Amino acid sequence: MSFDVNAIRAQFPVLQREVNGKPLVYLDNAATTQKPQAVIDALVEYYTQYNSNVHRGAHHLSDEATRRYEQARDILAKFINAARREEVIWTSGTTEAINLVANGVGQLFKAGDEIIVTELEHHANLVTWQQACKRSGATLKICPIFDSGELDIATFDTLLNDNTRLVALPHVSNALGTVNPIKEISLKAKQKGAWVLVDGAQGIAHGDVDVQAIGCDFYVFSGHKLFAPTGVGVLWGRKEILETWPVWQTGGEMIADVDYQTATWGELPNRLEAGTPNIAGVIGLGAAVKWFSALDMQAIHAHEQDLLAYASKRAKEIEGMRIIGTAPNKVGVMSFELAGAHPADIGFILDKQGVAIRTGDNCAQPLMKRLGLPGTARASFSIYNTRKDIDQLIEALKKAKTMLA
Ligand SMILES: *Cc1c(COP(=O)(O)O)cnc(C)c1O
Repeated sequence: MSFDVNAIRAQFPVLQREVNGKPLVYLDNAATTQKPQAVIDALVEYYTQYNSNVHRGAHHLSDEATRRYEQARDILAKFINAARREEVIWTSGTTEAINLVANGVGQLFKAGDEIIVTELEHHANLVTWQQACKRSGATLKICPIFDSGELDIATFDTLLNDNTRLVALPHVSNALGTVNPIKEISLKAKQKGAWVLVDGAQGIAHGDVDVQAIGCDFYVFSGHKLFAPTGVGVLWGRKEILETWPVWQTGGEMIADVDYQTATWGELPNRLEAGTPNIAGVIGLGAAVKWFSALDMQAIHAHEQDLLAYASKRAKEIEGMRIIGTAPNKVGVMSFELAGAHPADIGFILDKQGVAIRTGDNCAQPLMKRLGLPGTARASFSIYNTRKDIDQLIEALKKAKTMLA
């Protein structure tokens, strides 16, 4: 297989548009990715051809919707190498999936227990555990990072002990791009009998996620950062653990037998999926993963690393530009500051030139404080970006610098 970036670009309708009279340069992929025609078609097909509720109807459309909806579960299970299809639980996204884990394991925490997270956390994987600790009396421990954005593993080793119940960390940092050694950390945590939750919101789009090889207990992600619609995501968890969890939301689909005063619960995955799900979203996610898996992962990695290296090199042309996050193992995320310029002003000037980036705290306020920054400007690359996009970013930044200096 070869990798033709122009053929990929042609499949993303939004990339053909202009913004402020300039061709769109979309570099906000860590916030959400654009959607290929294959995903848009899957959504339109569902709504125009077989819109129906799932698992319920005694009619053709419902059968078809159910089949496609459950096919998506098979596609996702295969994509992450889940041992069983019922280990794939649909959620509305990463945030809801983390809250679902907190509902499951969090109820078992007690005073004296310890939870370890890292300085890299997105608010979703920090505030949820703060709250779980408040409810249970458990203690939250924070694994530090070095200024490069790499985890301080020696300190992690000292934080981990027999009281550790859960280690929750990102596969890839959304703010700095660091790829964390999740396999090594999972192994260490499991040896202490702790659960491991990997926040895969950023990791999943970089391919090659094998949950069994990682050795974690839970891996969560959102569809929308993986070329799929918003409002759908996945909790993958080991069946032996999910089976022991208390119920989450209650209602239709998750029950076995109901009387006026009592009810019993159904089997996985339905037990954790109450109510009419995001059917179109799930089908769209299945289409996105089918589309993405057909690409050459090695070529995608090489392309992304080329973009990152090229952007890092060209950034040196701009005096006062400093890249934040310099871990040797990182994905195509370039957070930076420009001396004397506020990130919000940089974002505004870039937007006028058609260049879309993220500015601000990157949903990681404690990390920004740790780094002593008000926030960053962040350019994040995806498979459809090109060196030409980066050239336009650099030109726009040069302009911003003269305007803000
Ligand atoms: C985006 C993101 C989240 C939250 O995802 P939602 O889709 O907003 O639920 C959590 N963690 C990381 C690392 C993210 O990048």
